[in-house]
Amino acid sequence: MTVAQALACGLDARDARLLLAHATGFSEASVLAFPERSLPLEAEQRFLDFAARRRAGEPVAYILGRKEFYSLPLAVNPAVLIPRPETELLVELALSRDFSTVVDLGTGSGAIALAIKKHRPKARVLAVEASAAALEVAKRNGVALGLDVEWQHGRWFSGLDRRVDLIVSNPPYVAAGDRHLADLRYEPASALVSGADGLDAIREIVAAAPEHLLQGGWIFLEHGIGQDKAVRELLERAGLEEVQTWPDLAGTPRVTGAKR
Ligand code: GLN
Repeated sequence: MTVAQALACGLDARDARLLLAHATGFSEASVLAFPERSLPLEAEQRFLDFAARRRAGEPVAYILGRKEFYSLPLAVNPAVLIPRPETELLVELALSRDFSTVVDLGTGSGAIALAIKKHRPKARVLAVEASAAALEVAKRNGVALGLDVEWQHGRWFSGLDRRVDLIVSNPPYVAAGDRHLADLRYEPASALVSGADGLDAIREIVAAAPEHLLQGGWIFLEHGIGQDKAVRELLERAGLEEVQTWPDLAGTPRVTGAKR
């Protein structure tokens, strides 16, 4: 099988190129530049296996074992949610504030905490995760990137020993039974699903936020389409101020925040 034949296997062109590069060890550029090259037998077998997994619906990021987020190369596996481009908004908003201590609740792969630490090396960055398997991925990413985040195993604020300037979270926010979940079946349900309306985790985080924020500190929460009004109401009811929502690049209201 040649590179050109592999690329013509019926997958999305970019997926095919990434999987072929991963299977062969060729760079993406050389995959494009040398279509007549024939694949070593083992590489061909690896590629066919990757292509079959992709066709069955497995996300490319899990097949490659990596995903880029905020220009950071992250290791991922099925224990963690695959970082999404829209979550970069949460990082942008965090980095728009002054803070010396920030906590990322439900850090998963560590994506948000690591991106913040990368750009605020002097800040104390805490990251909490309830899943031990996910936390292992996050810690490995921290070591690989040389970023000194303080990882804590626990639920939401459980391990927090002091008030912080900033709380960020991309918690699970999909409603149980949402049809959209079929497309997300390879990802951990615990990172996606949160009660009948998808707001259980956000309710729990918002209720506890005021007692964990320093005066003047901010909280930013990612949420799903159509949840912005409910999240603003929760933040207002918790007594927080300057409650507002920001749209992602697609124009979807995606992050809601407030100040103590
Ligand atoms: N953004 C994910 C989706 O595809 C959901 C992530 C989450 O629940 N935090 O809907």
